[in-house]
Amino acid sequence: MDVLSLIKQFKRLYSSEEECIALAYKLKWPSGFQCPYCKHCSAYIIRSRRLPLYECHNCRHQTSLTSNTVMDKSRTPLRKWLLTMYIISTSDTSINAVSLAKRIDVTYKTAWSMLKKLRQAISDLDRGILLSGAVEAKLEVYMKQPIPTYEALQREHAAIIARTVTSTNCSYFKIKLLPAQKHPRGLLTNHAEKQFIKDHVSIDYTHLEINRRFVHPPRCQAILPGIARSAFEWMNETFHGIGLAYSQFYLDEFCFRQNHKAKLGTCPFEYLLGLTLSSATKSLAAA
Ligand SMILES: [Zn+2]
Repeated sequence: MDVLSLIKQFKRLYSSEEECIALAYKLKWPSGFQCPYCKHCSAYIIRSRRLPLYECHNCRHQTSLTSNTVMDKSRTPLRKWLLTMYIISTSDTSINAVSLAKRIDVTYKTAWSMLKKLRQAISDLDRGILLSGAVEAKLEVYMKQPIPTYEALQREHAAIIARTVTSTNCSYFKIKLLPAQKHPRGLLTNHAEKQFIKDHVSIDYTHLEINRRFVHPPRCQAILPGIARSAFEWMNETFHGIGLAYSQFYLDEFCFRQNHKAKLGTCPFEYLLGLTLSSATKSLAAA
């Protein structure tokens, strides 16, 4: 679904700030309010602020739905944050900061900052998930140049696309840039391979197969090159050239959507919203 249709759909589903507050409350405290300080489960509600403040009956600690999250102290209405999450998690194409600023009526700087924080939260989530069981992986070339002159080759970067192999369609995918691999079209070095395994594969894996050489056209691991190609094309088309420093966040965002596509019964939007409402993502996002 394109972004405009998604925005219409979101506005039908959540037509007011109050409805967004109710959804965020349900996802943050599914069993009712819980004080983050003393775990007490009842509070006074102070409604004079833009977002309700909850003051714990027991310890008087005040908290809000967005306290200690990526949305903390943001002056942007909750509904605009939720709409942004809806687009990121549900669309096929995501959105860049220029378009987002226009669509939700915020400044470019605000749109850029919102997207950066949400992507960081997604990356932090992925960092905590290690591939386990049977894992297959393949060396790929990010920003592959059509004419491999010496200068053009300097723009290429090595990446590994990997997935858990399952009998269902619920593989978990990761695409990770490999700064340790100097020659993207060469053989995967032991150092780069060890680094990838250390960072992204659980020690209890049962089978690990890495296609160590960049192969064109790909001869094996049929699913992986197709997914990597879609990711790289999407990044080119949507963002028109991204600095390498940010590329990993976009790749993680792409994989987030990919990983939720086949999961029946889970709503990627509610998952992302629940993730950002958990305070654990804030410190990392601010870094
Ligand atoms: Zn308390």
